[in-house]
Amino acid sequence: MKIRIDHDRCRGAGQCALTAPELFDQSDDDGTVVLLNEQPPPELHDRARLAAGLCPNAVIHVTDEP
Ligand code: SF4
Repeated sequence: MKIRIDHDRCRGAGQCALTAPELFDQSDDDGTVVLLNEQPPPELHDRARLAAGLCPNAVIHVTDEP
């Protein structure tokens, strides 16, 4: 799995960091997303997909590429 972030569309608020704190944090400057691990281990794949689905601006893109 690979996670890609469309930073220009992120509006902050941190739903991703609440859903998957192992994978996402928020910038201290503007509250936008900080990706902590772009290639998460298998046990975090479901959570990555959940965070992508809950992001209000569709900023988080998850693919099955290695
Ligand atoms: S949930 Fe989406 S819009 Fe909100 S901080 Fe995370 S990536 Fe940005």
